[in-house]
Amino acid sequence: DGVALTPQQDLGDQDVETTLRPRKLSEFVGQARVREQLELVLHGALKRGEQPDHVLFSGPPGLGKTSLSMIMATELGASIRVTSGPALERPGDLAAMLSNLAEGDVLFIDEIHRIARPAEEMLYLAMEDYRVDIVVGKGPGATSIPLELAPFTLVGATTRSGALTGPLRDRFGFTAHMEFYSATELELVVRRSAGILGVDLRDDGATEIARRSRGTPRIANRLLRRVRDFAEVRADGVVDREVARAALAVYDVDEMGLDRLDRAVLAALVKSFHGGPVGVSTLAVAVGEEPSTVEEVCEPYLVRAGMIARTPRGRVATVAAWQHVGLTPPQHAPG
Ligand code: ADP
Repeated sequence: DGVALTPQQDLGDQDVETTLRPRKLSEFVGQARVREQLELVLHGALKRGEQPDHVLFSGPPGLGKTSLSMIMATELGASIRVTSGPALERPGDLAAMLSNLAEGDVLFIDEIHRIARPAEEMLYLAMEDYRVDIVVGKGPGATSIPLELAPFTLVGATTRSGALTGPLRDRFGFTAHMEFYSATELELVVRRSAGILGVDLRDDGATEIARRSRGTPRIANRLLRRVRDFAEVRADGVVDREVARAALAVYDVDEMGLDRLDRAVLAALVKSFHGGPVGVSTLAVAVGEEPSTVEEVCEPYLVRAGMIARTPRGRVATVAAWQHVGLTPPQHAPG
């Protein structure tokens, strides 16, 4: 359909995401627990004049992991360097990154669960002792040269904390799990964004967009932009409930905010597998998607929305899922 309404970032989003990114903790909506815990971690370290512990943010895409990392650096008065697990293919790439850090810097590694093994092993020592061993030469003549690093704080983000190895996970002093946002919180997000983008957003329009954003600020902002297009092209530019509803119908976002992939997953679960239990990779094949997308992007929200239940034998459709697909749930479907 050409329009990505999924929580992952797409290229066209980057500029507008930079514009809409909250800059201060006070602009960061929701996640009250994580914010409180993080403030204690940061200010405790600042008070003692120490480098704050390494921090891991886990949770589905678009919930504010990157934003919070950037805010952390601001709070610490530090610079942030940004990279990602897949970019750290060779340990040399990581060594270069690490040796360029200045004292107190924050190093942000997105998708840290995808880091290659040799780079990961280098990270252990760097996190623990602010040190790396650079191996020079090959074979029996190889020597390793220790290199001191400036004290830094590593911030890792992952959509799959379960995929992190034990030793890596253990080296983070604080792990925060990001939750989906409530509709009320998302209303605040879209109002703030409308203010920045100069969109004439009415209260009932904000409510409608927030309610259909899959608990995800990135989606809320994206829907706001799509609804604005519709309002400007087909209406008088004002975003109210009616305009939001008409626009979201065009973009195939349903009443619950589920997109096409979510609905395809539910339909497959109910119709092809009679409500399950079925493994997530089998479901992914049935809808022609990567298992990681189904597991890390679709499923968390469908579970949170009460449509899918996780059981030891696989994924099961709930009564709500059967009803959403328009079928009568069988007796054994969980509520
Ligand atoms: P993640 O790193 O978890 O994928 P991001 O931090 O990149 O998510 O957030 C995506 C976008 O969503 C940001 O650019 C910002 O506009 C918006 N956003 C995320 N979290 C919040 C929040 N708590 N308050 C306001 N806007 C947010």
